[in-house]
Amino acid sequence: MPQLDDGRAACEGREREARQLALIHRIARISAENHPLRARLQQIVRLLKEHLQCEFVGCVSIDLREGRFRCEALATDIPTVIHVGYGRELGSGVVGEVAATGQTLYVPDVSQHPNYVETMSGAHSELCVAMRHNGEVMGVLDAEATRKDAFSAEIDLLETLAEQLAGMFAAERLNAEQRQRLELLVMLNELSRVAIEAEGLDQALLSIVNFLRDRFVLESVGIMLADLHSRRLRFKAHAGVSVFHGRSGGDWPETLGVIGRAFRCGQAQYVADVTADPDYVLGNPAVTTEYVLPIRLRGELIGLLNFEASDPQALDEANRQMLAALADQVAGAIHLAATNARLREINRLVEEKSFALSQANLRLREANQQLEKLSNCDGLTGIANRRCFDEVLATEWSRAQRHGDSIALLLLDIDDFKSYNDGYGHLAGDDALRQVARALSGSLVRAEDSVARYGGEEFGVLLPQTSLAEALNVAAHVAHAVAQLALPHAFSRAAPYLTVSIGVAALVPHAEQDALTLVTRADGALYRAKMQGRNRIESAATSFALTAT
Ligand code: GH3
Ligand code: MG
Ligand code: MG
Repeated sequence: MPQLDDGRAACEGREREARQLALIHRIARISAENHPLRARLQQIVRLLKEHLQCEFVGCVSIDLREGRFRCEALATDIPTVIHVGYGRELGSGVVGEVAATGQTLYVPDVSQHPNYVETMSGAHSELCVAMRHNGEVMGVLDAEATRKDAFSAEIDLLETLAEQLAGMFAAERLNAEQRQRLELLVMLNELSRVAIEAEGLDQALLSIVNFLRDRFVLESVGIMLADLHSRRLRFKAHAGVSVFHGRSGGDWPETLGVIGRAFRCGQAQYVADVTADPDYVLGNPAVTTEYVLPIRLRGELIGLLNFEASDPQALDEANRQMLAALADQVAGAIHLAATNARLREINRLVEEKSFALSQANLRLREANQQLEKLSNCDGLTGIANRRCFDEVLATEWSRAQRHGDSIALLLLDIDDFKSYNDGYGHLAGDDALRQVARALSGSLVRAEDSVARYGGEEFGVLLPQTSLAEALNVAAHVAHAVAQLALPHAFSRAAPYLTVSIGVAALVPHAEQDALTLVTRADGALYRAKMQGRNRIESAATSFALTAT
């Protein structure tokens, strides 16, 4: 009944197709779930084993760098040496062969296949399909059965599923990469914070080594900085147990250890097994693995980072990549700390300088005050000088003008002073000037009255709010005071002692007059006093001779 058989076969074919579609659908849902990769794979291999009605389904991932494959999930009815994490080299066995070639391999009878490796007793047929993503073999799906030729109808299905699972592997790898990148970012961030917060370079480096040692679970971390002039490595900071103990602050010989080698060639040195490296300097017997990284700033080698681990995993490829990225950050941190230290030094210098500057300003102010005082003073007699007199006169003149007050001026000139000098010497003349000045100052009673050295042996006495009559009284008083000095003057034509002639003027200033009017009048009166024989007081209104008392 060939027709009936055909019909049944077609019917069975449709049923199988429907079951395959349902399986693909379920596996697609599982692969999209949010569980860890191995948990999802576990569900998938179990379903697959059920569907294929075989004794074993496994799934392996491939590590191309290590040249090995590794079991990620398995479902088995029969005891097997395979377990999650089990691995072999690429090329070994049927799975290894597919992992290496990326080609589907169906072995209907394992006894006929030379590369078959028995992992499950009683297996007769095996189907291995590569999980390829963008041409890269990510893993292998492996099914084994105790039946011979168990899988010829399922090759297409497994190839379809393998493609799906390859996508899962690729997504997982991407996730891992992103996680690692994120972790690196967090660490970079923390490292720069550590460097910024540190007080100076030494503390920054110490924080960095401690941070890296804790973060990567290392036996020790050390930093050496290169002195580019002397070509020497100076040991700067370390954390953990190592040969560095006792070397703090000292030089690290360029010829010594894996560190020296890295320094000489300027390249990173990874020593997976320190016992096999003749250069390795034993500092801590627990150490199995060493990694030395150059620290470069703008391409220039500025130092080395040394990492030692007791667990080789701590310095695996992924961690080494991270550390290499961190080495750049360390270079930045060193630069930053050095810049900060320089800034602090500059600030200190600026503070020092501005303190010195403020001190200098203070001294300058004092000197100016002194200078001002001096510039208002006559150096010889210590009383006000001509400059000061002019200022006071201008002020008092305008005050008198405003208030309509009378203001008076006495101009005094020592009589025959030239002959005094000639007769007694210039120094005696100076002394006489000082005594006259003192006598004048002492004879004034009102605070507002002032005396100044007007010229060589001439003096001015300004008397605000003073009438001519009052001024004449003051003049008499003043002349008397000078006479009282009783300085002998044998060469005077006026008296046998030192005398003065005084010109007096007083007026209520008109609006159109200026202070010169007062001076001119007093000067005129003085001239008359001289003309009329000296030792006299003269004014516009009055004139009288002073007699010896
Ligand atoms: P008269 O009575 O007409 O004023 O005669 P006089 O000699 O005083 O007048 P004259 O103007 O001829 O001379 C003034 C002298 O005063 C000349 C000068 O050497 C002296 N003299 C001026 N300033 C000083 C000074 O600071 N110290 C001394 N020792 N002498 C001075
Ligand atoms: Mg004179
Ligand atoms: Mg004179």
